[in-house]
Amino acid sequence: MNFSTFEPSLAQMAEWAIGFEKLPDQLEFVEQLFHIEVIQEYSKFRSFANKPFNGFKLKRPFEKVSSANSGYFRHLYRKEIKRKLFERGMPYIHIWYYPSNYKSVFSFRVDTDSSRREDCEAVFHLAQKNKIHLTWFIDVAARNGDLSDLPGMSVSGEDIQLHCFNHQIFADKESVFNDIRNAYEKLESVRIHPSGYAAPYGVWSENLNAVLEELNFIYSSEFSLAHDDFPYFPLLSSRISRILQVPIHPICLSILAKASFTHGEMKSYFQRIIKEKYVRRQPIMLYGHPLNEMVKYQDILDFVFSQVSSRPKIWKPSYTEFAQWWIFRNGVRFTIRNELYGFEVKTDVEDKRLMLRIEFPNGEEAFTPMTSGFINFSSLEKVVVSRKANSYYNPLEPAWKSYGFFVLKILSKFRSFSKFFLKELFYL
Ligand SMILES: [Zn+2]
Repeated sequence: MNFSTFEPSLAQMAEWAIGFEKLPDQLEFVEQLFHIEVIQEYSKFRSFANKPFNGFKLKRPFEKVSSANSGYFRHLYRKEIKRKLFERGMPYIHIWYYPSNYKSVFSFRVDTDSSRREDCEAVFHLAQKNKIHLTWFIDVAARNGDLSDLPGMSVSGEDIQLHCFNHQIFADKESVFNDIRNAYEKLESVRIHPSGYAAPYGVWSENLNAVLEELNFIYSSEFSLAHDDFPYFPLLSSRISRILQVPIHPICLSILAKASFTHGEMKSYFQRIIKEKYVRRQPIMLYGHPLNEMVKYQDILDFVFSQVSSRPKIWKPSYTEFAQWWIFRNGVRFTIRNELYGFEVKTDVEDKRLMLRIEFPNGEEAFTPMTSGFINFSSLEKVVVSRKANSYYNPLEPAWKSYGFFVLKILSKFRSFSKFFLKELFYL
């Protein structure tokens, strides 16, 4: 990919960055918010790097993820749009992220890789016990032709999608196409018709996107493109992709194990992720691998599921159901005419699951079903929301902290040297 040719128009930038908020159609001034710094910042979205996530003490989980954090980036833009509206005394109105009165969403993606059938079954039963429907992304070649009895194949709600044929990254489009088509045909032969894809090692590319479009997939999930964010349609060189990106939190149990987390610390890590995302009403999208990971840490997985179940109003769809909801929501067109005592909504879509969220300049918010007609402000049940509920939880280690972490880690490795160093320096 040639970065220098990547020049999205301001309108494309606006559509990409805040399109997912589902603001009314006539909000034109948002385009004015996009200036040159944004485009410079945006170029970072096409690269990925090994980044530290918040851990415990000196332990940091690392993963190769998108160089820019799209979730945080767009959070800043959302804030800026709200500020401009509130300055004019106008409310911020958009279609709520989830159906009905759900506060958040939880979904768990399982990449099967070379897991054995018994590993998958153990994980499947654990999730069943906790009433969680998993989404299985199948590594087809690793099944050795045994696709007849994939976990949960006959269970309604269990979702089977595609990970790869060969678990590797291909540089050219033809190889990507052959690998995905090969795997797709194998799954079709056992009456599974995948519409979702998750690339090996989470590596996204424009080639991959083009192949997924050609093969009529509807969504994919790659943390080299995005993580810890709402779903969105990626911005390509000259247009917006038709493949929905469904970002996940990219740290799985084996990454924590690699960073020497104890059992207790692993539980605390996921407890923190679930809690922080839940209070901010962000999606809780996790993932794992059965072999040597989910099977090995079943008690932690059980704990994760119970953390979700113990919190009210969390929607628990499969990845595919969530993607379908997001695509439906994205297609809804509506307009709003602001008046002194309320606002007039016009839309052709009537769906009871669609809710409008109205945020007021005084910090209150209200929800109301999205239907055509006049909505009086006084008829709304307004509640004051905390600043935290509208903030973004960034699971990445702040840059200053990660440099400090490296220094401390080096010093702790050479304790005797650091003692000597400190003595020399401070005459201790
Ligand atoms: Zn994999």
